Amino acid sequence: MKTSSEKCIICGRNVETGSKPSFCSLHLEAYRNIVRNYEAWRSAYGGLTPEEFLRRLENNDYTGKWVKEVVRVMLSNHGLLQFFLNDLSYSSRRG
Ligand SMILES: [Zn+2]
Repeated sequence: MKTSSEKCIICGRNVETGSKPSFCSLHLEAYRNIVRNYEAWRSAYGGLTPEEFLRRLENNDYTGKWVKEVVRVMLSNHGLLQFFLNDLSYSSRRG
């Protein structure tokens, strides 16, 4: 039985099974998109730090609502930001 009382730290929906930061499926997908997009942004802007990347996303009119919510929570939560940094180095290590 896989009942989990865990709630998404952003919206309070049920957490997607296996989601490491406690995100629902919508916010987890947004989070994964952020991780995936970082490399492309970094090469486009030339040496963008993860924090700068998040701030640009936050201030970008084209950034989706879900992504912005994830960005805001990461910028205000040091533990989550650390998790994001780990995910970035992990995904770049795998190519
Ligand atoms: Zn959520």
